[in-house]
Amino acid sequence: MNERYSRQILFREIGREGQEKLLASRVLIVGCGALGASHAEMLSRAGVGKLRIVDRDFVEFTNLQRQTLFNEEDAEQRLPKAAAAKKRISEINSEVEVEEIVADVNNSNVESLLDGCDLIIDGTDNFLVRYLVNDASVKNKKTWIYGAAVSSYGTTMTVIPGETPCLRCIFEDMPDAGSSPTCDTSGVIMPIIASMSAVQVTEAIKLLVGDTGSLHHSLMQIDVWSNDWHRIKLAEPNPDCKCCGRHEYEFLEAESREFTAVLCGRDAVQIAPPRPTELDLAAFAARLNGTMPVKQNEYLVRFEIDGHEVTVFRDARAIIKGTDDMTAARSIYARFIGT
Ligand SMILES: [Zn+2]
Repeated sequence: MNERYSRQILFREIGREGQEKLLASRVLIVGCGALGASHAEMLSRAGVGKLRIVDRDFVEFTNLQRQTLFNEEDAEQRLPKAAAAKKRISEINSEVEVEEIVADVNNSNVESLLDGCDLIIDGTDNFLVRYLVNDASVKNKKTWIYGAAVSSYGTTMTVIPGETPCLRCIFEDMPDAGSSPTCDTSGVIMPIIASMSAVQVTEAIKLLVGDTGSLHHSLMQIDVWSNDWHRIKLAEPNPDCKCCGRHEYEFLEAESREFTAVLCGRDAVQIAPPRPTELDLAAFAARLNGTMPVKQNEYLVRFEIDGHEVTVFRDARAIIKGTDDMTAARSIYARFIGT
C-alpha cells in the first residue's frame, strides 16, 4: 500500500486492514452541493475506492463560499457539480474511481443508484429526496447517513435499517413547504458544513472499516455559532413507523413525483420530464442554433429567452433561471424542449 495513507493506517482504529476495506468500498453521495462536495473530498482523500456522485445542478459563483471542491473556472463554465467533482477528485487522488451522474434523484432511479454501494451519504438540500432515500435504504437494507445544515446549525443521524430508527421514526412527515429555514432565507456559513460533513464522513469510515461500536447512535445537533452541541440518544425503531415498521414505502411508490421544483435559493425552477429519457444534446443544440445563440458543453446546452437563462441537461431536465413562477417555466419548457 502506498505511503499516501500511512498516517491514517497509524490510526489504530483503521490500521492496514481498515485501509484495505476503504479501498475496496463504494459510497453513494446523494447531492454534491456544500455537504456533498465536502463528503466527496474527505472520502476521496481517505481512499474510499469508488464514489458514485449524483447531482442535478451546475456550479455557480454563489456556491464558491462553501462548496470547497469547486473553483471559479467551474462556475464560469457552468460545469455540472458531479462532473466538476470528478475532475477535482482526479487531481486529489487519481486512484479513486468516480462515477459522475448528472441527474435528479427520483423514485425511478434511486434504487439503481444505490445498487452495488456499501452505504449512502446524504449531501442533498431537500427533504423529498431524503424521504425517498430513507425508503430506498430501508427497503434495500442499506445504511444511510442523514445530514442537513443551514445558517450555523445542522443535524445528522445514521440510519441502519433493522437496527436503528429510520428518518420517519424521528420525523414522521416531511416539513411543510415554506415551514423550514433554507440556505436562501437564512443563509449558511462554511464552518457548519465542515462540521456536519466531518461527523457524517467519520460515521461512514467507521461503518466501512466495521467499527460499528463507535458510531454516535444519536440524533446529533450542532450550532457552531451559539456553541450548542446536543446528542439525543436513539431509542428502538418505532414498530408503527410507516417506513421501517409497516414497510409502506410511500415516497418510493408514489405514482409520479412532482416534476417541477422551485430550486432552493436560486430564483430558478427545475423541470424534469415525467418519464426517464435521454436527449441528443448535439442535435438539440443544432436545432436551436438557427434561431438564437447557444452555448454547450458535454453535459448541457444553454440559451437565453425573454430574459431567462435556460440550461438543458442530457436527461431532458431544464433549469430555468430568473423566475420562481412554475407556470412561466413550464411554458418555456414546452416551447423549446417539449413535454
Ligand atoms: Zn422508521
